Amino acid sequence: MHLSPLVCTLVDASVDAAAVVDRNLEVLYFNSQYLRLAGLRRRELDGRRVRGMCHHHFGFEACNEQCVSARAFELGRTVRLDEVDSTRLPLRVIVTAVPLFEGDGEPYAVIEQYRDVTAEGRLQENYRALLEKERAQKDLLAKEVARQTAELERVNESLLAALNEVSRVARTDGLTGLANRRSFDEQLRAQLARAQRRESPLALVLLDLDHFKDVNDKFGHPVGDQLLKDFAHALTTSVREAHLVSRVGGEEFAVILPGLGLVEAELIAKRVQEQARSAGLLTTASAGVATFPLDGMTVNELMRAADWALYAAKRAGRNRVLCATHLRNEAGALPSEGVPREVAQETSEPKAGDGGDDAR
Ligand code: GH3
Ligand code: MG
Ligand code: MG
Repeated sequence: MHLSPLVCTLVDASVDAAAVVDRNLEVLYFNSQYLRLAGLRRRELDGRRVRGMCHHHFGFEACNEQCVSARAFELGRTVRLDEVDSTRLPLRVIVTAVPLFEGDGEPYAVIEQYRDVTAEGRLQENYRALLEKERAQKDLLAKEVARQTAELERVNESLLAALNEVSRVARTDGLTGLANRRSFDEQLRAQLARAQRRESPLALVLLDLDHFKDVNDKFGHPVGDQLLKDFAHALTTSVREAHLVSRVGGEEFAVILPGLGLVEAELIAKRVQEQARSAGLLTTASAGVATFPLDGMTVNELMRAADWALYAAKRAGRNRVLCATHLRNEAGALPSEGVPREVAQETSEPKAGDGGDDAR
């Protein structure tokens, strides 16, 4: 069959590999790209008319099953196959079969075009592999971040627990387990501020063991320590949970009674004395009671008043409860001297041997 020069020119001008086949699927014409793609030399093809030569040269899987050119002949229109792999060459192509017509009749030939997309395919594969690798790295990173976050949270939790423990220890008296002086000062400040805000009463009871030094001297320091613990126990069992009990000095204790007035506070102090007596403690305790707002409006005023009452109880013979209000009614006013203590601004732990009330 004779091909028109126009068809040959078109085939030659194609940037893709192209060949023209007749109805017998024999190659009539091909361009240089075709040779290059098939890895053939011109003399290997010239003058040889082999049926299905294109497929023979490349071994495209899809073509072997159903030749695109045969379909283009049959259908009378362009047939295209995307991404066809060669079984013989490292090739991936897009094949287009364009039927050629003369007049209105059947196609007399088909131009097969092979667009080499091997590189694009490889690029895509590489890109996919890169994406996959990146995803894997991201997963790994996310896992590592999650692991380190969990580790940090664990460390944080234990730090927080340690901090809480340090804070608890810093506010606890080691011997009796009661709140210490530091904690007492904070609590009294907070409770008084609350009472002022709510305009509700508040009572403060200071208790001091009588002749405690004698117990130490007579029975030894360990027995004195045990007595302090026993008294602390008697104290806590005599009050409610809302009542704040502290060891504020060597053998001196305090109870803050939010919302309570003079009468209830005096009763509670007496209950503590009774509890200590019935527990068979080696010594008695004296107590001084002061209340807000009657005996003082500030922390220092309240402390001074309670201390004054305690001092008066000692002077009156010990083992008794005296109230600042009653004393003031009798005496007219707080003495200006003799009760030097104030709430510590800088708080400190009570120390063994630190009586804290030697002025009394
Ligand atoms: P008063 O009735 O006037 O309160 O006399 P007192 O003997 O109780 O008071 P004083 O202030 O003379 O003595 C308190 C003693 O408490 C002195 C101190 O050695 C002792 N002390 C302070 N802290 C501790 C402690 O933690 N353990 C023991 N065993 N003794 C302590
Ligand atoms: Mg004492
Ligand atoms: Mg004392």
